[in-house]
Amino acid sequence: MGLAVAFATLPLSAQQPPSAPANDPIRTLVGRLDLDKYKATIKGLTAFGDRRQGTTRNSKAVDWIEAQLKSYGCPTERIRYEYNPEPPSGGAGRGGQGGAQKPPDAIIASGEVRSGPGGSRYRGTTRRTGVNSDANAQPDEKLRELNREPTKPGAREEVYCTKVGTTRPDEMYIVGAHMDGHGWGEAANDNGSGTALVMELARIFSMPDVQTERTIRLALWNNEETGLNGARAYVDQRAALQGKENPPGSGRYPEPKWLGMIQHDMMMWDHGMPRADGTWNPEQRPEADVNIEFQSTAKRADEAMKLAFLFREANEKYATDYPAAVGPHMTNTDSTPFMDIVPAISLRENERGMHTGAGWNPTWHQPIDVFATFSDKDFRLGLNAAQTTLSGVAQLTNARLK
Ligand SMILES: [Zn+2]
Repeated sequence: MGLAVAFATLPLSAQQPPSAPANDPIRTLVGRLDLDKYKATIKGLTAFGDRRQGTTRNSKAVDWIEAQLKSYGCPTERIRYEYNPEPPSGGAGRGGQGGAQKPPDAIIASGEVRSGPGGSRYRGTTRRTGVNSDANAQPDEKLRELNREPTKPGAREEVYCTKVGTTRPDEMYIVGAHMDGHGWGEAANDNGSGTALVMELARIFSMPDVQTERTIRLALWNNEETGLNGARAYVDQRAALQGKENPPGSGRYPEPKWLGMIQHDMMMWDHGMPRADGTWNPEQRPEADVNIEFQSTAKRADEAMKLAFLFREANEKYATDYPAAVGPHMTNTDSTPFMDIVPAISLRENERGMHTGAGWNPTWHQPIDVFATFSDKDFRLGLNAAQTTLSGVAQLTNARLK
């Protein structure tokens, strides 16, 4: 007790993080994450524009992601599926606007209750949200041309890679992010930021001196923006294969039993609520944090909540700059198709319901979601989410250094 009091009186900069064993392999792994590498991977993804599903720029991005994963030494596979939506019947379809939950530009009066997605409640200033579909809203001519090809229905592919566990190869954590985007920008934040995070974890877990007891799968979903169709295809095709050794006696498990699913979607922008005049703070808010969400209505909610708090603890111990908060309203991302089957959580820059849904991110699905919009503080928030997930998953799979 006396020690704690004395400690608390030190200036923050003089305090050390809670003491860890001298040779903590997780701290070593977290130290291998790098802001410049994270930024470079996001930059690489932006070379394919908004990576809208059903276009050549999207399939080229899948090829590029796969080449990177292979270069890290992470063996890849693909999921193939069809995406054939009903043709739009005039007016806005999904990805367009007209949703019942869309908040108008408003300041919520004291006592007024306005619901957002996932069970959330809007507070404070809200702004209209939507997906930009106007090519001319993109001022950069080259980017406008890069994003020009329209989406077509038909065959789709998405890629994942796998780190096989040494003693429990039949048990697996799935770490994911969607790689498709839209809105005539570069989909840098939504969701180059989550895609690069998952790719960075693939790079580090695949290093030759890293061993994990359990298996880790790193998945880059496609077709999130059309309704989570890529993640749903994975669940439909592979849920029934869980835990089966194939061929029998081989020690191989093409689909290890799922122990948890950890999704990453929009990792960088935490600038607070819009001001009363409707403008946004161009700077990150000083209280910026990583938001870890589970869904309280999911069949596996109790275990998902425990998983969320495990990640919060991992953040406390290993993240260098930003804290993490846990909330119960995970929604509108690729962890949803998993959440009744396996404990599932999402990591984000903000809560999806109360913050993003209320229009607190002006880059969301807009032409300004480009690499140049974000500062190093923004990129670093994404890196801290990477530190959080890397350390959480390393703990859950019992990662060691050879
Ligand atoms: Zn997204």
